[in-house]
Amino acid sequence: MSAFETKTCLACGKPLKGRVDKKFCDDYCRNNYNNQQKTKGSHSNFVRNINNTLLKNRKILESILPEGEETAKASKDKLLRLGFHFKYITHIYTTKAGKNYFYCYDYGYLPLENDWFLIVKKKEE
Ligand SMILES: [Zn+2]
Repeated sequence: MSAFETKTCLACGKPLKGRVDKKFCDDYCRNNYNNQQKTKGSHSNFVRNINNTLLKNRKILESILPEGEETAKASKDKLLRLGFHFKYITHIYTTKAGKNYFYCYDYGYLPLENDWFLIVKKKEE
């Protein structure tokens, strides 16, 4: 690598003078850059965790619904024991009768009485 090669600051993009292994103008730019990276990292962790939870929820619903069946019932206790997170859903489907089905992708549940849930799978369209 040539010592005269112009490198730019990773934080502000200004050309760097001085040592060839320098990455930032000064400590201010270095701190700025590191903080940006941290924020980026935690954001993607946050998104990744939600995606993982949604996929886990879907897997749990899938495991409860027997192959070939359209619906199944499960208690809240059972769902919680399997690690289901009721907070995480992808969308809500409201029927004409005003019932709300909560979906995790193609699997959903309808709250019934006494902490029971009807598990459903979205039909192929
Ligand atoms: Zn800079």
